Order: sequence, then C-alpha cells, then structure tokens
Amino acid sequence: MKAAILGATGLVGQRFIQLLNHHSWFEISTLTGSERSAGMTYGEAVNWRMETSLKHNIAELPVQPSDPKKVDADVLFSALPADQAFKIEEDFARAGFAVVSNASSHRMEPDVPLMNPEANFDHLSLIDQQRRERKWDGALVTDPNCTTAVLTLPLKPISEAFGLKNVVVSSMQAVSGAGYPGVASLDIMDNVIPFIRDEEEKVQRETKKILGRAGSPAAFNVSASCHRVPVIDGHTEAVFVQTGKPATPEAVVECMDSFLAEPQKLKLPSAPERPVVVREERDRPQPRFDRTEGHGMSVVVGRVRNDPVFDGVKYIALGHNTIRGAAGCAILIAESMKAQGYL
Ligand code: NAP
Repeated sequence: MKAAILGATGLVGQRFIQLLNHHSWFEISTLTGSERSAGMTYGEAVNWRMETSLKHNIAELPVQPSDPKKVDADVLFSALPADQAFKIEEDFARAGFAVVSNASSHRMEPDVPLMNPEANFDHLSLIDQQRRERKWDGALVTDPNCTTAVLTLPLKPISEAFGLKNVVVSSMQAVSGAGYPGVASLDIMDNVIPFIRDEEEKVQRETKKILGRAGSPAAFNVSASCHRVPVIDGHTEAVFVQTGKPATPEAVVECMDSFLAEPQKLKLPSAPERPVVVREERDRPQPRFDRTEGHGMSVVVGRVRNDPVFDGVKYIALGHNTIRGAAGCAILIAESMKAQGYL
C-alpha cells in the first residue's frame, strides 16, 4: 500500500521515514512539507536527525504541499503541528483518504478513535460512526500524546485484572518530545523544566478515553505532573496506582508480563513480541539502555512495589517517545486498520 507522510521534515516525520523504510505492507509514495520546503527535494529540505542514514531514493523525492490533489496514497501519516493539522487532516479525510495523526487537534472528538492498539483495538469501530455522521469515505484516527502512550500500555493489563480507581503520574520527558529544534540547550542542560504546555491536561483526558469503552471514557481519576529533563529520547514515568480490587506487586508483575493483545495475536508487522517488559533490577528502566526494547515499541517497567498512600502499587515505566509515543504507534494503528478492513 502507498503511504504518504504529512509534515515529513520534522522529528516525527523523520521517524516515520526511518520506520517505513523496510516495512512489509507500506511503501512511501509522497512527502509533504510547509511552504518553506514544498518544491525542494526532501534531502534539501530536511535536517536529518535519525541514527540511520537517509536513503538516496527518499532524499530525491520532491516535497509536496499538503494538498489532497498532490498526494497519491492509500494511507496518510500526519506529523503536522496541531494548529495546521486541524483543517488539513479534515480536508484529506473529506477527499477520501485514511489519515492516522500524531497531532492533538482531533483526539478528543467523540467519533475519532484515539488508539494505542494493544489497549483499545476495538475503538476503531468509531470510524463507522464518523463516516456516517461526517458523510465522508475517508477516516481520521489519532494516536495519543507520547506520555499517554507510555502510560496506558502497562495500565491496560492492571485495569483488566484489578480495575483502576486513581492513577497519579509524574513524568521525566525527553527533549525530542518538543520537536526540532525544540528546547534550547541553554534552557535544558544542567536543568529540569517543571512545565510543558497543555501536557498534563492531555495525559489526564486521553488516558480515560483510551482505557474506556468506545464512545464512553473510563471513570477512574488521573492526575499528571509533567517535566522536561535533559534526555534525548525516551520518556520515564513514576506511576502510582490505586486499583479497584486489592493487588500485590507480584500479581501486577504477572499480569503485565503475560499481557498480549490483538496486535500480537495477529502478528502485525510493528507489534512488539511483548508490549510490556518488566525488569527486575532495582535501577532499571533507564532511557539510555531501555528505550529501544521491542524496536522502541515496548514499554519497559521496573521497581513494581507497594504504594503505602494508595494501598496499591507504584512503578517506573519508560517508552520511546517518537516510536511508541508517535510514529511507531501510528504505523501499528494503520496495520490494525488494515487487519480490521478499514484500509
Ligand atoms: P517538528 O519537529 O516541529 O516538525 C513539524 C514539521 O511540520 C515541521 O518540520 C514543518 O515542516 C512541518 N509543517 C508545518 N506546517 C506544515 C504544513 N502546512 N504542511 C506540511 N508540513 C508542515 O514536530 P514533531 O515533533 O515532528 O511533531 C509533529 C506532530 O506530532 C506535532 O503535532 C506533535 O505535537 C506530535 N507529536 C510529537 C511527539 C514527539 O515526541 N516529538 C510525540 C507525539 C506527538 P517544514 O520543515 O516543511 O517547515
């Protein structure tokens, strides 16, 4: 299938190109950029920041404007800034394209699936309602904010086994989460910034949409405190959970360790063998060592222990923010759409 990337020059756009390079189902057909880069070749327009080299055939592609008439694709991956994404993504869906978006603009609309595939594979059914109500043949599906993507994966098996009452999360977020060039080095080196605009609100509402039923958010409470730290890739989260039924740390480890969902059962190409990997060492997970677990698609959990305040459990979770938290998650969503007949 032909895949286009909207906003291909940014950090998430580059990650899409890297991950789609050897994909068995999708082949890159079109790249779009802003007015600044449309008309250039991709190699001229991009400041390539990935660990692998940019392939010649991709560098030679022309950068197109984000205009449905200029795009030839079966699926679109959007890495547009939220202010641009709102209208452009709707224009594409109205023109009949299937859009999987990283932007926050449409995430909370009731007829738009907000997907972390292992947590809510069945929410794709909202596409039927969306097509009926918006009278378009295309589709608009979103992935979560990067912090929410990391948070919801280990919460899913806990929610299934014990239920959730209260979740508190304190994040330590990588600078790549702010895009390129992102946070100025003079602000972040030797420092922690205890504020990321709109982030806490996104984590609080998106977590409940993902872990609820399609069209009906979950009823548990979520409180988030979000912080930027001098790490390049990988968001670390300290999570404190009050479960519905009593849960021991051992039982929580067991349910996370054995967690498998539809993407694993269907062997979708981007599904990690294990969505949640539990480490036993007392000083793991760490971003430098653990962010590429499962090719960046697994969330690594460690230090699962009793929480005396909630009489529940607390643990550390870590995931790659531009792979599980952005491009990788969107590709897994597109694979899930194909598996369910929506592509
Ligand atoms: P970024 O590095 O700032 O890149 C955004 C790119 O969008 C820019 O390079 C710009 O391209 C392009 N652009 C702007 N207007 C455009 C238009 N009208 N048509 C086509 N391209 C346009 O940001 P990012 O980190 O990649 O994030 C992209 C989106 O993903 C954002 O909505 C962000 O919130 C979301 N997201 C990011 C992360 C993360 O970890 N970074 C995680 C989850 C979600 P030009 O070079 O052509 O000007």
